[in-house]
Amino acid sequence: MYRPAMSPPVDLPAESTRLIDAFGRRLTYLRVSVTDRCNLRCFYCLPEDARFPFGDRAFLSPHEIERIVGALVRLGIRRVRLTGGEPLVRQDILEIAARIKSLPGVEDLALSTNGTELARLAPELVRAGVDRVNVSLDSLDAEVFRAITRRGGLDEVWRGVEAALDAGLHPVKLNAVLLQENLADVERLTALTLDRPLAVRFIEMMPTASNRHLQPEAYVSADLARRRIEERFGPLAPLSDAEAGPRTGPAKAFRLAGAVGTVGFITPLSHTFCADCNRLRLTARGELRLCLFADRVHPLRPLLTRSNPDAALESEILRVLQDKPAEHMLSQGNYGNLVSFMQIGG
Ligand code: SAM
Repeated sequence: MYRPAMSPPVDLPAESTRLIDAFGRRLTYLRVSVTDRCNLRCFYCLPEDARFPFGDRAFLSPHEIERIVGALVRLGIRRVRLTGGEPLVRQDILEIAARIKSLPGVEDLALSTNGTELARLAPELVRAGVDRVNVSLDSLDAEVFRAITRRGGLDEVWRGVEAALDAGLHPVKLNAVLLQENLADVERLTALTLDRPLAVRFIEMMPTASNRHLQPEAYVSADLARRRIEERFGPLAPLSDAEAGPRTGPAKAFRLAGAVGTVGFITPLSHTFCADCNRLRLTARGELRLCLFADRVHPLRPLLTRSNPDAALESEILRVLQDKPAEHMLSQGNYGNLVSFMQIGG
C-alpha cells in the first residue's frame, strides 16, 4: 500500500481560506467522487440495468486526485470527503485516502459508502488516514433493503457498520433517504440511537433525471419523519452548540432523552441551506462542480498537463469560483444537468 510520510498539521484556520465566492461564502469543504461505478442499484439513484462500460482510467488516478485536491487545499479546503459511485469498489482507494490525508492543511478525511465492503476494509481505511464514515442504510428490514438496493445484503452492510465502530471510525453516521418504502424505518433507525453511538440522518429525496418518474408520490418530507419519531419516542431536543461543535454540514441534529446517539435531518427541498453552503465538488473525471444542481461543470484535468499545473489549477479554481450560484432551483423543478447522484456522490 502507498504510505507517504505524514506531514505535520498546518495551522490554517477556516477563516484563512482564499475560496470565497461572489456571495461571501467561505468554501472549506470538498467532496471528491472517485468513481461513477457502484455495486448497488438503489432505485431512486440508478436504473436497474445501469452499465459502467468504461474502465477506471476514465477516472482520475490517485496522483491526479492528489494534485487537484492539493491545489484546492492550498487555497483553503480543510475537510475532504471521498464518495462516488461507491468509493470502496476502487482497488486503489487506500492509496487515494493516504495521499489526500498527507496533504498539509487537511484536517478531516471522511468517506461515504454503501457499506458492502466496509467489514473488510474498515481497519485499513483507518490506517490510510480516514477519520470517519457515513454509511448509507435505507432500511433495517432485509426485504425492504433488498427491494430498495436491488442487489445488496443487509447483513454485510450491518457487519460493515460494526467494523467501522470497532475500528474507531468516529462518528459513524447512518444516512437513510426518506421514501414511502422505508417509512417504518424512521422508527427502527431512530431506535438504534437509544443505545448506540450512531448519528442517524434522514435525507429528503432529491430529484434527478434518473428518478424524475418517481416524483412527487415517492417524496417524504423530513417534517413527517420528525413527527413520526416524536409521536413514538417523545421530543427530539436540538443539540447544544457545544455538543454539535462547529457547523459542519447541512444536517440539523437532535437527541432523544437519554439516548447515546443522535438523529438528524437533511432537508434540501423543504428547508434549503444554500446560504450556508461551504462546499465544492470534484467529479471522478476531474471536473469542479460548484453546486450539486448546477447546469455546468468546470474541467480541471486538462490543466494537469500544463508546464506549471499547480499555478494553472489555482488560478482556474479562483476564476470559476465566482460562478457558484446563490442557490439551487430545486423547488422550481430545475435540477441542472445531474442525471444521478452516482455521478457526484450527493
Ligand atoms: N456509494 C456511496 C454511498 O452509498 O454512500 C456514496 C455515493 S451515494 C450516491 C451518496 C448518498 O446519496 C447515499 O446516501 C444515497 O442514498 C444518496 N442519494 C442518492 N440519490 C439520492 C437522491 N436522489 N436524493 C437524496 N439522496 C440520494
